[in-house]
Amino acid sequence: MTPIYDIAVIGGGIMGCATALRLEAGGRTVAILEKGDLCGGASGVNAGTLSMQIKRVKLMPYAIKGHAEWEKMGADVGFHKTGGYTLAFNDREAELLHERMKMKRDAGADISFISPEILAEKEPYLAKKIVAASYCPDDGYANSLLTGQYYRRKIKDCGIHFNEQFDVTYIRSTSEGYEISSPNKTVVANRILFAAGGWTKKLAAMIGVDLPIIARVNTVSVTERPPRLMNSVIGHATGLLTMKQKENGTILIGGGWQGKGTPEGGRGTVTLDSLVPNLQLARFAVPAFSKVRIVRSWTGFEASVPDFYPLAGKLANKDNAFVLGCVRGGFTIGPYISKLMGDYILGREPEMPLFDPARKIEEGKLI
Ligand SMILES: Cc1cc2nc3c(=O)[nH]c(=O)nc-3n(C[C@H](O)[C@H](O)[C@H](O)COP(=O)(O)OP(=O)(O)OC[C@H]3O[C@@H](n4cnc5c(N)ncnc54)[C@H](O)[C@@H]3O)c2cc1C
Repeated sequence: MTPIYDIAVIGGGIMGCATALRLEAGGRTVAILEKGDLCGGASGVNAGTLSMQIKRVKLMPYAIKGHAEWEKMGADVGFHKTGGYTLAFNDREAELLHERMKMKRDAGADISFISPEILAEKEPYLAKKIVAASYCPDDGYANSLLTGQYYRRKIKDCGIHFNEQFDVTYIRSTSEGYEISSPNKTVVANRILFAAGGWTKKLAAMIGVDLPIIARVNTVSVTERPPRLMNSVIGHATGLLTMKQKENGTILIGGGWQGKGTPEGGRGTVTLDSLVPNLQLARFAVPAFSKVRIVRSWTGFEASVPDFYPLAGKLANKDNAFVLGCVRGGFTIGPYISKLMGDYILGREPEMPLFDPARKIEEGKLI
């Protein structure tokens, strides 16, 4: 007889995997349905930056709790708390930096402003033309590959049923819940959680729900192993640069520069139009970077909605259907917001409020 799961989680990224673990710990039977490999989407190709300084003000309490979760996972996910500096190269950027970082500090992040002279002592390879900088000791990074392996191990150990290469192409509402089908298999569950990142819009449409999700095509690059050029996470006041030198010596460069493609069309492609300015900004911040070769650049899909807050809650007018994710910087808050989501589905009061997907979603500011 076909088993009927308490809940089917569509999408085996960080949001889906972490929520599945919470639900299983709460005594529910869970099936994860993943069209590729677990954590092979955004969760497996991101830059791994865990930075308070690039988090939205309203999401700061979630980022603070998120960092605590990363710290607990520690070496298993390649977590490093290095501290992070955000740089301004002119007065306009310095003004922007002060305005944004003050708001983030008021929201609870441990962010201070430091003089260019002190910064030059801490990070001697940074450009000399820096006019202002902020610092957060909690900033750092994790390794997305190790994170995927971590969640796979946990899910296996808990005995959660996970189907990889299960491309959900059809969902039917039944009296018992939902029948969720790939071209060659069907899974039945009482409840359903959409946690499919950039693909969530298409999947929710299968049960008649239209979500205002946009998928961006973020670019990340990695270098060869130069001598040590930085000790902490380096960012820019505009948010258009993140740089860190990993323990193996390679430097990972991101900043949300856009490649081309759509989630339906595959991985997306790197474009020189956006890669070159990304690398130029990196070289401007760390002049010695001009002698370092890029080994590989790639893209992945990051979902968001126009107000830049997550979708986390029950779908409007649908019994037993939920959605989680679709927020920029979702890797950082993923392990924590997934616990809240799991609690909500379990019928417990989440420790912090979720983000109703049925709210009026208007164009918001990326602060
Ligand atoms: C290049 C890049 C860099 C980033 N850098 C950072 C960063 O430095 N710090 C940070 O905090 N955040 C970063 N992010 C954002 C972060 O990676 C995402 O917010 C987070 O990983 C989203 O997790 P998720 O589980 O919601 O989605 P995903 O990890 O994308 O998982 C969704 C899963 O759904 C599956 N799926 C899709 N369609 C179907 C289907 N039909 N049937 C079954 N399964 C399906 C996909 O295969 C995928 O595995 C970055 C994102 C990208 C793309």
